[in-house]
Amino acid sequence: MRRTDWKVKFRDFNYFLRFFWPYWKLLGVLILALQVSVFTGLVNPYISKLIIDDAYKNRNLKLFLILISIGFFVFILNSLLNLIKAYLTEYIRKDVEISIRNKVVSHLYALPLAYFKDTSRRDNLYKVTRDIDSISHLITDVAERVLYLVPTVIVTFVIVFYLNWQIAIFIVVVSIFYYFHSLYFGEKRESYQEEIIKIDEMIFRRLAETLANIHLIKASAKEKSEEEMHADLLKTHAAQYLNNVRFRVLSDFSSGILGKIFIGCVTLYCGYNIIKGNMTLGTMTAILLYIGRISRHQHFISLFFQDFNVGGISCRRVKHILEQERETEESDGRVAIRRSDFEAKIDFKNVSFSYIDGMPILKDFNMDVIPGQCVGLVGPSGCGKSTAMNLLLGLYPPNKGEIFISGTSLKEIDYYSLRKNITISLQEPYLSRTTIENNLKFFKTNATDREVEDVVKNVALDKMLTHQPNGIKTLVGDEACRLSEGQKERISLGRAILPKPKMLILDEALSFIDNETAIMILENIKRNCKNLTLILITHNPHLLKYTDKVVYMSSDLKAIEESHEKLMLHDDYKKLFDIKTKEKGKNES
Ligand code: ADP
Repeated sequence: MRRTDWKVKFRDFNYFLRFFWPYWKLLGVLILALQVSVFTGLVNPYISKLIIDDAYKNRNLKLFLILISIGFFVFILNSLLNLIKAYLTEYIRKDVEISIRNKVVSHLYALPLAYFKDTSRRDNLYKVTRDIDSISHLITDVAERVLYLVPTVIVTFVIVFYLNWQIAIFIVVVSIFYYFHSLYFGEKRESYQEEIIKIDEMIFRRLAETLANIHLIKASAKEKSEEEMHADLLKTHAAQYLNNVRFRVLSDFSSGILGKIFIGCVTLYCGYNIIKGNMTLGTMTAILLYIGRISRHQHFISLFFQDFNVGGISCRRVKHILEQERETEESDGRVAIRRSDFEAKIDFKNVSFSYIDGMPILKDFNMDVIPGQCVGLVGPSGCGKSTAMNLLLGLYPPNKGEIFISGTSLKEIDYYSLRKNITISLQEPYLSRTTIENNLKFFKTNATDREVEDVVKNVALDKMLTHQPNGIKTLVGDEACRLSEGQKERISLGRAILPKPKMLILDEALSFIDNETAIMILENIKRNCKNLTLILITHNPHLLKYTDKVVYMSSDLKAIEESHEKLMLHDDYKKLFDIKTKEKGKNES
């Protein structure tokens, strides 16, 4: 199992430490509270020595009462400081967690689409939630321990040195043991923890996937096998967890024994010196109280090394997201397109593209679209139609050639502003768990009731709404689970035309709607969105009759631009519909 070297761990940790700096004022108060509590916490053992050696020995009641009062005052002060410390630590931790989460989520949104295609979204979700949670705990715990334990141990050591230097030297020797002990167990636990996170992530991912596709799971009677798979993963997780616990318990046990041996040796040594008359009873009491404290702190220091190792894994995983390169933005010198200036004049000039080196999807692809035109994009499945649209939206950069929008190269345009001018509707529309109305307002949240009503009519949703329990206010469930595919498509179409875009991409967006309704919707869209440039990816010949021209992308990576009627004279093109029409006919019947 892989172990990361300490330099990398400190670098990763240091990276997240900067999320603390905005809280420097509160941190100042926290440090002050911690430092005062270090000193107040060390007063009482010394007072015990004075009570035994001076007040008891000389039977001095006045001195006894003064010392007891000081001890009580110090105890109250220390308890108050601990209260402040606990609240401030939790307050800062929560805020740090929120700012790390905001930063990571904003970075995630700024990453290119390719990142999401290559990684699992559930894994990303795990990193944004659980990993960040453990980072925020690590940072605050480490900070608290460094700010509190280190000064406490140093000051305690100085006091013990003042009381008896031989015992102080003994403390140094035992500390070295503690250090190696902690390092050993820290590394052991790190490798198990890495496995635990991986399995936990797998359980999370698998469960999220199956619950999202519960329809298919139930329809194919896969519940039992999924249940067994889940139980197996939990068993593996428990085994790794127990391995980790074994080392934690062993570590606690051995460090406890070490502490007891340490105190036992000091007690023997002090006892011998008291009998020999070299030490007072009060000094021994104070030393034992201080040693008890040092031993407890050493234990925490040992946990510090272990937690640092374990939490370091989460630091590394989240930092990996933050190290990914963001998409370029307007601030990188690109031109923003305002809605009033946007003209949907598109030119693909000899564009080549491949997702994987040596496996071209588009090769010298050319296509030009003028504003107000309706262009069909047709070709066999997997020939690159959606890919061409992804390139147009700047979601992937072409390997060769250029795309021009109104004469300006896409390389010089701010993608964000371009995408705001184009709406898109896909075959598998993403609808969220909210009302139909809110889903329709996805691209234009401030749309008026009138605008929504018009859109409902244009995409033939009105009849369907009368069958919903709360009409347009009906909640559609997770991923719109309560609607048919055709209904989902119509909502998706409605939301795409609600902002009256200048350009609309329909990527197989009418495939679950019958021909008659699909044609009616297309006509409504064309009539209501003046001068709309429409790119229609479809296999439906009835819809292609409504296009001004068709770009046919053949499987040998060549593109031909013609009208649908003329292209129907090509055998390959015609064959495409023979099969598709038969298939659609079969599906409909
Ligand atoms: P179409 O829309 O014409 O059906 P696509 O443009 O979706 O086809 O896909 C074209 C080809 O690119 C397909 O072979 C598909 O497997 C491949 N492809 C699509 N997306 C990716 C990706 N993110 N990584 C690798 N290959 C991809």
